[in-house]
Amino acid sequence: MEKYLSQLNEAQLAPTIQIDGPMIIIAGAGSGKTRVLTFRIAYLMSKGVDAFNILALTFTNKAAKEMKGRIADIVGDGEAKNLWMGTFHSVFAKILRFEGHHLGFPSNFTIYDTQDSQKLMGSIIKEMGLDKDIYKTKQVYSRISSYKNSLVTVKAYYKNPELMEADAMARRPRMGEIYKEYVERCFKAGAMDFDDLLLRTNELLTRFPAVLAQYQNRFRYILVDEYQDTNHSQYLIVRALADRFQNICVVGDDAQSIYAFRGANISNILNFQKDYDGVNMYRLEQNYRSTKCIVGAANSVIEHNKTKLDKIVWTANDEGEKVKVHRALTDGDEGRYVASTIWETKMNEQLHNSDFAVLYRTNAQSRAIEDALRKRDIPYRIYGGLSFYQRKEIKDLTAYLRLILNPSDEEALKRVINYPARGIGQTTVDRLIVAANGYGKTIFEVLKNLDSIDININGGTKNKLRDFVTLIESYQVMNQTANAFDLAEHVTKTSGLIRELNKDATPEGVVKMDNVQELLNGIKDFVEGQLELADAGDSLAEFLEDIALATDLDGDKGDPDHVALMTIHLAKGLEFGHVFIVGLEEDLFPSGMSMNTRSELEEERRLFYVALTRAEKQAYLTYTLSRYRWGKLIDAEPSRFIEEIDEEFVDIVTPLREQRNPMLDQSIFGDIEPNRIRFAKPKTAKILRKESKKKPEKFQISTPKKMKPLADTEEVSGSFNTKLEVGNTVNHDRFGRGEVMTIEGTGADAKAEIKFLNGDTKKLLLRFAKLEIL
Ligand code: ATP
Ligand code: MG
Repeated sequence: MEKYLSQLNEAQLAPTIQIDGPMIIIAGAGSGKTRVLTFRIAYLMSKGVDAFNILALTFTNKAAKEMKGRIADIVGDGEAKNLWMGTFHSVFAKILRFEGHHLGFPSNFTIYDTQDSQKLMGSIIKEMGLDKDIYKTKQVYSRISSYKNSLVTVKAYYKNPELMEADAMARRPRMGEIYKEYVERCFKAGAMDFDDLLLRTNELLTRFPAVLAQYQNRFRYILVDEYQDTNHSQYLIVRALADRFQNICVVGDDAQSIYAFRGANISNILNFQKDYDGVNMYRLEQNYRSTKCIVGAANSVIEHNKTKLDKIVWTANDEGEKVKVHRALTDGDEGRYVASTIWETKMNEQLHNSDFAVLYRTNAQSRAIEDALRKRDIPYRIYGGLSFYQRKEIKDLTAYLRLILNPSDEEALKRVINYPARGIGQTTVDRLIVAANGYGKTIFEVLKNLDSIDININGGTKNKLRDFVTLIESYQVMNQTANAFDLAEHVTKTSGLIRELNKDATPEGVVKMDNVQELLNGIKDFVEGQLELADAGDSLAEFLEDIALATDLDGDKGDPDHVALMTIHLAKGLEFGHVFIVGLEEDLFPSGMSMNTRSELEEERRLFYVALTRAEKQAYLTYTLSRYRWGKLIDAEPSRFIEEIDEEFVDIVTPLREQRNPMLDQSIFGDIEPNRIRFAKPKTAKILRKESKKKPEKFQISTPKKMKPLADTEEVSGSFNTKLEVGNTVNHDRFGRGEVMTIEGTGADAKAEIKFLNGDTKKLLLRFAKLEIL
């Protein structure tokens, strides 16, 4: 038997060497599910299955890359190259490039990222004259996204009174119209958003049986990792493709299903056995990742969930240290504890920075941790948040590139038609949009036919528009012969982008310039990498697709020896020696927005289970007594999840009861005996807490109403001050005290105008300004 198979235990070996037929592996964290999937692919290939016939779907592109690397070690580079591996989005984007024409899309279609989609929705809402405080772009976006992921097309929407009623109840009766217009505009722009990549694939496979048959024949062996987090759209794609040969292997853990808020459907894993005939179900029980203490702690927590499959997880690893719980006074104090513990442990145990990870519930929590790590000179990297490719200067340059490939791309065009400034105002752009909608043309087509259409634009402006068209067309000509790097460099120089950035000599401006240079380097690497491939296609198109689909974990550049900071959602499937889970406080984790129903609370608990099980050697849990949230210092109480860990596995230095402010206890629990509440069911405990909030104002745990908590998915990087609000008093290292007058922009571009006591008013980029909220 193949030598590498000796690296599997018996339970793992059985599914690895089952070649044909449907199978499911349901098993707890760290039991080797991903390893089985990897080895299984190598095994199939060693038994003569052609790499071209294997499709493996993973949660991130990074996971796919790593898996491919391991398979290459076993079967050799040449063969592994031909495997189809990646996320659902990247694999099906490739297929849609070949087949999208059946649906009326060009092969060079643009992929709209979240920012593009939201901008387009924003402008549709504006064009329709709707109230943007009711039709909030982000809400409209997530609503439409959820329709798409449930395969509710515009037509299906109008046939579904329940959905329409729900929108009407939410004071958005015109959702259907927005949805319809949005879909039409994307189509006209030759663009697909992230959800379309799945929705349109489904449409393709349903409407075109010959295409379906072709891909069924091609993908004779299908493997899916993290199956518990597939949504309905993904589920249907897998089912359609696997239908003919039924060689489908899915692995997952119901206890790690954490994406319900994005439409993931846990029943996909629970119903798998009903979907195929003769399913072999495998269970893996031995955890290889973590110590006995960590496995015991994680098992005891997940026991509290009612909805779960019964699973055994045990480990032969060492007992290890108990899970450490640390109480901090504030979030700053919490950061200092994390940094000093990392520093000491690293010294004492001769470890690397990369042996440590800090996991949190929301991106906004990273700032305090970052500050503390920086003070100790510990290198770290934040994963998630605003990605490199979403920065303004990067999107500006890529918008030019997108437009060259696909001049119908409306969002790209709107972005650069007057950037750098060439005297084309917003009114002109609005008129162009109206004309384009009226004539059923794209904006670029309108621009090319300015003389023959009826549009109220003066001669001078028309000339400027013509110049713009000439510029883009000259790039298109160059694109026919030049490679992507030469073209991008030429665009940067001749479009005026460089000149524009050069004007800004501030440190922020310099960073932007560096970023543009970095993007050019990236394109160069990509082009050079492609030259080695015999079948290199259109390099620019492929590069743009890659960056549109880069997930938060991809593109891991720089010094690899850093502490990893990320949300728990992003940490799925990963492992680290030492893991800190910070902010274990009621209303934060479990999140205040997810405590209303048992199922929401159970999802939060699964999230905690995922977090704990990332740790190999040691897990640390921290919570604070008070924390800055939404710009205010609020009292906090320890998360119920800490108490749910069996005490034999946890080391609580300061008892959870004592350290709480006694006044606060009174206000929360009144005169009820505390222990009874400790062990009350979560729901009961919550009600008690809620009631107590009505008690004397002074002790209230207040959540200011008008301020919205930062959702995990929001594009907020913790590396700058996200809690800031107009009206806050702040302290700046150099300028002293001041008041926040205005805030503009978001993410890495957020700026605040601050009036300082010394009389100066300054506009500061929050990413750099170290402001302390007073
Ligand atoms: P998760 O649920 O977190 O995704 P998983 O079930 O996919 O976890 P893996 O990541 O495949 O688990 O494995 C966890 C760790 O245990 C990895 O470091 C892996 O290399 C190791 N491992 C798995 N099986 C074995 C084995 N038979 N012998 C030694 N190490 C193993
Ligand atoms: Mg895994």
